[in-house]
Amino acid sequence: MDICDVKSIDDFHTCIEGKLNNVKCLCGSSNFFVFCRYDRYNLPIKVGLCVRCGHPSSTRRLSEADNTSFYESSVYRNLYSGGKGVKSKEAIDHRTDYSSNHILGAVRGYCRNLKNPRVLEWGCGGGWNLKPFKDDCWNVYGVDPDKKYVDYGRKEFGVEIISLSEYNSSFKNSIGRFDLIVLNHVLEHIANPFKLLESLDLHLKETGLLYISMPFLENIRNWGYSRFFHIAHFHYPSIIQFQDDLIARGYSIVNRNDEVGYIIARKSSRPIPPKTNRKNYFVANLKILILANLDEKILRIGRGIGIKYPSLKVLLRPGYRIYNRLKKSGL
Ligand SMILES: [Zn+2]
Repeated sequence: MDICDVKSIDDFHTCIEGKLNNVKCLCGSSNFFVFCRYDRYNLPIKVGLCVRCGHPSSTRRLSEADNTSFYESSVYRNLYSGGKGVKSKEAIDHRTDYSSNHILGAVRGYCRNLKNPRVLEWGCGGGWNLKPFKDDCWNVYGVDPDKKYVDYGRKEFGVEIISLSEYNSSFKNSIGRFDLIVLNHVLEHIANPFKLLESLDLHLKETGLLYISMPFLENIRNWGYSRFFHIAHFHYPSIIQFQDDLIARGYSIVNRNDEVGYIIARKSSRPIPPKTNRKNYFVANLKILILANLDEKILRIGRGIGIKYPSLKVLLRPGYRIYNRLKKSGL
């Protein structure tokens, strides 16, 4: 069965067999401390902290093509959009309110003096985030892989959205540059988020802003540990780590909101050369995981099938390497 034919979570369980691939960390290492083996729907995943750089990512995952098919399937929308899909008034209001408060609301202060401001949202779904911008007299454009949502957004909100398949060289050359590019819960689904950021550079004005929100590791508490990890997410960096990753790639940070989980950045006019010896976030990220895990009181002892998470309690016993490492760091 192909992923695009999936109709239910049971179908997905069946068809996922043989479609998962082991992948290396963005830094090239294959040495992981695996801390989550099943996602919120008990789908088999392997989320680990890279021992070399500390980046938390899914180490066994769908290919990017299969992941795109998964987004386009109705099962994805049903599983991750509360069953009703995103066409109900309730679901739309929730999204437009979020955008008014936490996307437009977050960038407004930096865009006051712009004439005819222009925004591009990459992965815009049905365009609900763009509606408040349109109402605020911005020129709005969006790109999304899901054709059904592209058609829906064009009709419902009258916004300029194109599907990923229409994003060709003539579109790239004709669309011009933007004051703001929005990536709202997009980068966690991309195999190499920094490559996508690089490719979007051609659409950003010299002084343009990037708005990036993701399920950062610190936001586990907003979701709950057992609901946080899921099969379509490839990356779970902490917000501080991701900020440092952006700085190392020549971006300067304009603002950051740890609670909501977003970063506003711009391409720096004086880029800092990428560091060859990057900080290892292993201990800092493990600390976030342990605290979130303790918070939900779901520490489990034991190993084997049926145990969702490796026992952090066991790993934290004296004598274990991780215990020694944490002790050294003062945790
Ligand atoms: Zn790494």
